[in-house]
Amino acid sequence: MKPTHIEHIGIAVENLQAAIEYWENVIGLKCYNIEEVADQKVKTAFLKIGEVKIELLEATSEDSPIAKFIEKKGPGVHHIAFAMEDTDQALNEAKEKGVRLIDEHSRKGAEELMIGFLHPKSTLGVLTEFCCKK
Ligand code: ZN
Repeated sequence: MKPTHIEHIGIAVENLQAAIEYWENVIGLKCYNIEEVADQKVKTAFLKIGEVKIELLEATSEDSPIAKFIEKKGPGVHHIAFAMEDTDQALNEAKEKGVRLIDEHSRKGAEELMIGFLHPKSTLGVLTEFCCKK
């Protein structure tokens, strides 16, 4: 398991446009991409600081995982994504170490990345994503 850097921090928001305005006007980052990921029922906006991205996530449907997260915990930090050499290999290694997975195999995420999630019950409450360019 060799994470190279934090690829992005995922943040659940109620209103994507309002969140972009906050991150641009107060923090001073620039949104460079807005993308809908249909199978995850989210609309995402990306801002960048150095090599690290901030991924803002707005639910596009009431049964979106982001809608459920906000209902339970309110808006805020949702997950941390580590850049890996190979997402599937990293998922397998975590599984071998007894970690419960949300994704047994990597799937296509935003920004042309192959992504996979570990289950927060196995990660001390931090929803953890692995991703790699493929
Ligand atoms: Zn993510």
